[in-house]
Amino acid sequence: MNDLMNKINSISKLQNNKKIVCVKIKLGALSHISAEHFREHFVISSKGSSAENAQLDIEEMINPDDPNAQEIILESVEVED
Ligand SMILES: [Zn+2]
Repeated sequence: MNDLMNKINSISKLQNNKKIVCVKIKLGALSHISAEHFREHFVISSKGSSAENAQLDIEEMINPDDPNAQEIILESVEVED
């Protein structure tokens, strides 16, 4: 999760610290975290960062044979215009 927040915040830095409006996440089938639980962690982790109040778009993957099944994948980050 920390790693993920670091990635999100460094994207914001690259965009001149613009506010992040939307974050798309894919949860691997074996990542052992539900979308709801991920959302709670995100709200806590993003407090005070450029990703605070960002909209979260979470896709739960169901294939355990996917090479990324263990991962929480940062699919995309949208920054404000
Ligand atoms: Zn937890």
